[in-house]
Amino acid sequence: MATIGILGGGQLARMLAIAGAPLGQRFLVVDSATDACASQVAPLLTADWRDFDALADFARRIDVATFDFENVPAETAQWLTEHTRVFPNPRALALAQDRLAEKNLFREIGLATPAFAAIDSREDLARAIESVGLPAVLKTRRLGYDGKGQAVLRSQTDADVAWALLGSAPLILEAFVPFTREVSVIAVRSQTGEFRPYPLTQNWHSGGILATSLAPAPHADALAEHAFAHARALAERLDYVGTFALELFDRDGELLGNEIAPRVHNSGHWTIEGAVCSQFENHVRAVVGLPLGDTSLRNPSVMLNWIGELPDANAILGEPDGHWHDYGKEPRAGRKVGHATVCARTNAELSERLARIARTLGREAQIDPVRAALAL
Ligand code: AMP
Repeated sequence: MATIGILGGGQLARMLAIAGAPLGQRFLVVDSATDACASQVAPLLTADWRDFDALADFARRIDVATFDFENVPAETAQWLTEHTRVFPNPRALALAQDRLAEKNLFREIGLATPAFAAIDSREDLARAIESVGLPAVLKTRRLGYDGKGQAVLRSQTDADVAWALLGSAPLILEAFVPFTREVSVIAVRSQTGEFRPYPLTQNWHSGGILATSLAPAPHADALAEHAFAHARALAERLDYVGTFALELFDRDGELLGNEIAPRVHNSGHWTIEGAVCSQFENHVRAVVGLPLGDTSLRNPSVMLNWIGELPDANAILGEPDGHWHDYGKEPRAGRKVGHATVCARTNAELSERLARIARTLGREAQIDPVRAALAL
């Protein structure tokens, strides 16, 4: 039995603590918010990321540290390694915090990316628009997530507006990818280098935020093998320990790297009910050095994200194999407050359940694209 310290006390920390409890693991969460939702299931140490006295106390009380939040300052992660064991290592964290370094690494391991250019001035942006072309996506290199800190550019006017908004930070311009679909690899790597991917997941975003995931991604056997090989190469290059996500664009069967998340990931929430061992339990197993669990699919699964507020739980709980996750957060626009996972033995049965849920909740816009993918 170990005490696992988690930097960040959001829903990911909450689900890690819930998954680790049956294994006898204890948790200590550190977050600057006194109402961090993980504090409902694990003890909370309220502290700022740069409060090194509090972090020293944190390090003394735990056996190993990990993250629910990838934007923990690199210096905090580095400092922690001098006081306790830290998984994943700070180098992996730092890499994932910088979209430019991330894309360069993708290319180094042979994973294609959208055309991109680093932007440090308005002149750089003008030159990059010439080389990358329009439409394009301008993103902050750091601290961006869920579509925050980015703007789609379709014209020179858009470029002026986006520059006024984002130009004070280092940026990257990426070609806009007319993708066929978005997919992600959720995978776990152990301290002994064992690598296990979950079945490839297909994802739908709305306004830059994940809305829906489907596992396994339909008709993706060959694609999945390529995606797993890239994920394994990245994990080995970073000497990564724990669960991570690699987000990819599928453009007519060609994979392009979008980003890596050095933590359990929203597109892997379906694994709680849909896989033999969840991404959360496997992360816990990896960081404390237990054998990894089976990442195989139990049943086709769809995860529906609840953004802003929770809908009526009865629509999910009334379905066979329908599962409800309320993160215990106050409703707020754009905030992830919960999710549901619906599983079934067959795609047809899953689609039927989803059709009923879509009708009852009036969520056709969120659910119909998944049903279309299931019907292909
Ligand atoms: P990100 O924060 O980079 O993962 O972006 C959030 C979402 O915005 C992605 O999942 C895509 O749906 C969309 N997106 C980001 N970059 C691009 C791109 N270069 N081309 C097309 N869509 C993009």
